[in-house]
Amino acid sequence: MSGLYTRFTSGVLFPLHERLKRHDSVAVRRALEASQWWPPERLEALRVERLRTLLTQAGQHVPYYRELFAEHRFDPAAVTSVADLQRLPFLSKAVVRAQGERLRHEQAEGLARFNTGGSSGEPLIFFIGRERVSHDVAAKWRATRWWDVDIGDPEIVVWGSPIELGAQDRVRAWRDRLLRTELLPAFEMSESKLDGFVAAIRARRPKMLFGYPSALSHIARHAERRGQRLDDLGIEVAFVTSERLYDDQREAISRLFGCRVANGYGSRDAGFIAHECPAGGLHLTAEDVIVEIVAPDGRVLPPGQSGEIVVTHLATKDFPFIRYRTGDVAVLDTARCACGRTLPLVREIQGRSTDFIVAADGTVMHGLALVYVVRDLPGVRGFKIVQHSLQRTEVQIVADAGFDRPARAAEIQAGLKRRLGAAVQVDVNYVEAIAPEKSGKYRYVVSHVAAAPAQESVPHA
Ligand SMILES: [Zn+2]
Repeated sequence: MSGLYTRFTSGVLFPLHERLKRHDSVAVRRALEASQWWPPERLEALRVERLRTLLTQAGQHVPYYRELFAEHRFDPAAVTSVADLQRLPFLSKAVVRAQGERLRHEQAEGLARFNTGGSSGEPLIFFIGRERVSHDVAAKWRATRWWDVDIGDPEIVVWGSPIELGAQDRVRAWRDRLLRTELLPAFEMSESKLDGFVAAIRARRPKMLFGYPSALSHIARHAERRGQRLDDLGIEVAFVTSERLYDDQREAISRLFGCRVANGYGSRDAGFIAHECPAGGLHLTAEDVIVEIVAPDGRVLPPGQSGEIVVTHLATKDFPFIRYRTGDVAVLDTARCACGRTLPLVREIQGRSTDFIVAADGTVMHGLALVYVVRDLPGVRGFKIVQHSLQRTEVQIVADAGFDRPARAAEIQAGLKRRLGAAVQVDVNYVEAIAPEKSGKYRYVVSHVAAAPAQESVPHA
């Protein structure tokens, strides 16, 4: 049972917050909580109708799609099934980069600008409208409530994004206090920082945790080494996202925090795509996203076969994501979940992994700590950070013509040395292009220093 304050927050405070921001997330969440039980045919009819509406809007008001549809003689009004999407080309990150403003709805207002790389090696700039934000908030909210917790329950968030790190932002600080959310920055994982995280979690006694699986399992194992318990705090569930969840991490988080683990898959660009329910099913947010699994040659694969996740987000009329290639790999399932929800299942997400890196003094930190130093510099088209050894890290950069090489290199070196150690050699090399990994995926950070948190679980006393 949720407490009085949680019911007040979920029922009054947060809805007010959302209304002030002109988001419809309360109404959307209620609709999603009904449609998750619908018969599959009814769900499919909703998806086709929303797809037709999105494509019609795009064809009328989005310059890129107006031209594309004319070129392909594609009539959005004639769409009668999700499979009709296959007549359209994919939207790659390269197309988003090249088209930019031409992907915006001509009458769109109040768009938020984002800059992310997802799993590719180049920054990506895109826009998100209020409709899309409302749907992403509502989808996350629904999945939270599957676990008998709610917005307003005490929460610890272990995260690294600078967007969420604006601690100086007083409005955000107040909001977090009202919603009883506390943020622990995941950048730095020194022994003393980890001690502080454990103390903060013990003091807060959260009902839910949210964060990278690598970071949460790292904190849990640190507490275990210190002989500190975290399984006596009444934590109900740990929501993990944004990385592949390894079995040993799930086991460690569950055992050491004494809670269930709920895996989620999504990103800023592609949206809130799938979330685990208490019965163990990884459910697609099928009302909002159409997921296709695609072979390297572009063929759409049936459930049971592994391929790239391609997403059409139905709440993106302001800046359409239609057949967007995520670069992540997954397998869909045809089985029904024991929980009774009819939302289709993902069997396995195989992509995604972000390396940990190790500072000269042995501090283990999330690779994102270095990524943010380089990613947001103006004129960076692509980059890759390779930690060759504790003493030497290399930054490869694909730069625009006007890029101020000496000044930026000094900036990058200073930023990386602050995190890795002053004596570490940081080489900045300019390259024509970033080569993909053997797997075909691009990764921002590759560390050749053995630091995988999973390996730390071996020498338990
Ligand atoms: Zn389920």
